Amino acid sequence: MKLLEEKIKADGVALNEHILKVDSFINHQIDPILMQEMANELANHFKVKEITKVATIESSGIAPALLTSLALGVPLLILKKQPSKILNQDLYQTVVTSFTKETNYELTLSKKFINENDHVLIVDDFLANGEAATAAIRLIRMSHATIAGIGILIEKSFQPGREKLEAQGVEVYALARIGNMAENFISFL
Ligand code: 5GP
Repeated sequence: MKLLEEKIKADGVALNEHILKVDSFINHQIDPILMQEMANELANHFKVKEITKVATIESSGIAPALLTSLALGVPLLILKKQPSKILNQDLYQTVVTSFTKETNYELTLSKKFINENDHVLIVDDFLANGEAATAAIRLIRMSHATIAGIGILIEKSFQPGREKLEAQGVEVYALARIGNMAENFISFL
């Protein structure tokens, strides 16, 4: 998506070869017009798939996921991060390894909001190693719901996320795909 690539070039900050800061328009301050255009693009791409729910991981996926769910006319599910590992019968639970924060966390979804008839689109801001999205797929599949695909704003294509998700039979659609990055340098595929 040209608009997003231009915005990343203008306002994104590549801290090093791995981390891109987009906190002036995506995940701290949000540019609502750009966010809505990105969500509309994701919704437009996936609208043929008879999606019943959009899901995201709190918190930076919520803005694009909410606007995508609005455009598709379906509810938004927020997969919750919680520190406790106490088993709860009313929840689906799984553990995620976070490479950026170098920690593990528990991801949960209430059983009352999902069932085997759901066809779910997962939306997130970044795709890097694909750990967050893999955990989201695992959690949603626990309910026997199916995955319609994954919509991503920014994919760092030099990291293995896409391969990992496609190996699980899931379509990945990313609005901007970064092929290469270094301090103050970004190139797109
Ligand atoms: P993954 O599980 O694919 O490795 O990482 C997914 C999550 O890590 C994203 O939802 C995002 O919150 C965070 N993340 C990964 N790489 C970056 C990055 O370069 N910049 C920012 N701001 N967040 C990132």
